[in-house]
Amino acid sequence: MQGKIAIEEHFALGKADEDTARRLQHAESWAETARRLVDIHELRLRDMDKNGIEYAILSLNAPAVQMILDTSEAIEAARRYNDYLAEQVARRPDRFGGFAALPMQDPEAAARELTRCVRELGFPGALVNGFTQKDVPDSVIYYDLPEYRPFWACVQDLDVPFYMHPRTAVYERAQPYEGHPWLFSSAWGFAVETSLHILRLIGSCLFDEYPRLQIVIGHLGERIPYDMWRIDHRIKTIPAGYPAKKPMSSYMKSNVNITTSGHFDDVAFQCAISQMGIDRIMFAVDYPMEVMSDGASWFDSTPLLSEADRVKIARTNTIKLFKLALAA
Ligand code: MN
Repeated sequence: MQGKIAIEEHFALGKADEDTARRLQHAESWAETARRLVDIHELRLRDMDKNGIEYAILSLNAPAVQMILDTSEAIEAARRYNDYLAEQVARRPDRFGGFAALPMQDPEAAARELTRCVRELGFPGALVNGFTQKDVPDSVIYYDLPEYRPFWACVQDLDVPFYMHPRTAVYERAQPYEGHPWLFSSAWGFAVETSLHILRLIGSCLFDEYPRLQIVIGHLGERIPYDMWRIDHRIKTIPAGYPAKKPMSSYMKSNVNITTSGHFDDVAFQCAISQMGIDRIMFAVDYPMEVMSDGASWFDSTPLLSEADRVKIARTNTIKLFKLALAA
């Protein structure tokens, strides 16, 4: 179908982050992905045209700002990346939007940068690559901690969605993956890391305190939809002090939205639709980690969607949630 909007589509600057640079040096198969990461207006637009993707909201390649240990450097980097992205969007506002990168090392600075990105650069939301490191490599800071509450208040006031994108565990804490490097990142570890972070936000009563917050997660919900009944069931059986007002699944259906990024499978999609409902699902590819035509052709032909629902997921749900200035 034509007119799709894709919202987990990544780019990198020449020297976006050391993690990417490391992978660039060590993996030959990474070369093509890297070439496509740094391109915005040529290969990417050609692929979008071929695959019926009218508009893409671009975001920095993970982990980007979240792996910078020095806080002032992170603040400076986020600003530089966001200004660069705004310039690219300004060249083709009919095709691209931008997600703010945020220096989560400093919650106040992150709120200030988000405000600048929304009010001055016109960004429709933020995409953050999971937990932040800070000061030392072996640091993992999740955003359910009390010092992030003013940040979340700002997100709710600005009324923009927050995309929680995966990242890998820090090496110092990755012992469970030892000897199994193929599980460390996108095959398994991404979903473990991101689902834990989302469930932490729910369990910290974040959505009781800020009920209008809207979070987005990719990969058909980072495996949470499959487990929703069991999560509720076991917390009910063994509450262990669970403080939120409602079962976890309830917040998934009021404060969390999911995308199809990098998960082009009808079985998982059926589960996601059943658990989350059509209105909380949006199209995404995860380009260039995924081949754009793989995501687009699967989505265009999946028999699980009526044509009306296909348009919702490809376009109208996204326009509504992000208040995009595109025709519904
Ligand atoms: Mn991604």
